[in-house]
Amino acid sequence: MTVSNEQVTPPANSPGASALSQTGVSAAGRPAPDGHGPAVAVRLTEVSKAYRTTGGPQLLALDQVSLTVGDGEFVCNIGASGCGKSTLLNLVAGLDQPTAGQVDTGGRKVGLMFQEPALFPWLTAARNVELALRARGVPKSERQARTQELLETVRLGGFGGKRPHELSGGMRQRVAMARALAQDADVLLMDEPFGALDAMTRDLLHDELERICGERTLTVLFVTHNVREAARLGDRVILLSSRPGRVIEEYVLPRTGHRRIDSPEVSEVAARLTDRLREEVGRHGS
Ligand code: ADP
Ligand code: MG
Repeated sequence: MTVSNEQVTPPANSPGASALSQTGVSAAGRPAPDGHGPAVAVRLTEVSKAYRTTGGPQLLALDQVSLTVGDGEFVCNIGASGCGKSTLLNLVAGLDQPTAGQVDTGGRKVGLMFQEPALFPWLTAARNVELALRARGVPKSERQARTQELLETVRLGGFGGKRPHELSGGMRQRVAMARALAQDADVLLMDEPFGALDAMTRDLLHDELERICGERTLTVLFVTHNVREAARLGDRVILLSSRPGRVIEEYVLPRTGHRRIDSPEVSEVAARLTDRLREEVGRHGS
């Protein structure tokens, strides 16, 4: 595929629902018209990313993606497999550079969390977390107490001495979460972090993440292909098209207290997202 300059603007009148509203009206995280909205933590301006392929044309993974995430906002990015979600996170993390456009995090620290916890198998849970503290220069005298605090935050206070193979998949992701928090990031970039977990464990970790975000004013950009997860967690959900990824729709989800994965409100939003994604995948015949 060659690099295209075509730009698709989000449809103005796609289906709305009682539990969600479309942006353009009152997107959380965007500066309010009166200038009193939250500051923008992450701003992507017409970001495109093309990868070189051996011998063939360039592969366009993202095409003129513009989006903002406000300080303290929880934004879910959803789209079919291969639509460029991980590419987008890598660009925000600064692990890769866009082919065109700008990524701006205003100098905020970003932390990353992936589907695989990527823990050092020979180190205990505590040592895995401590390593992240050491990497950012926390003095040795403070590290032990900070590590314990972080393990308690993810409810693993009594498991610091265990090695990864002695922990369940959910517990390993809790350690990964503690390690991400140890980076003291303002912006947490999460790439399908609960994708490999069973539904029950995922559900529990959603609650933990919601609690932790409430305690620390974290900005989260969360990638998933799970519509229920997006509807459960997001203040806003951004839908990406099939490759090349473009923003095709945004939904603002009013937060009226604690959501449950099986609540009618989450189901309704998830159904909307599913319909829109099916339409998108159908259009691309994949
Ligand atoms: P997603 O996370 O939505 O599944 P990715 O961002 O991983 O999608 O990938 C988007 C597209 O870019 C895919 O077609 C993928 O094969 C391609 N891609 C991703 N990374 C690279 C790379 N380093 N080199 C070449 N192609 C890549
Ligand atoms: Mg991915």
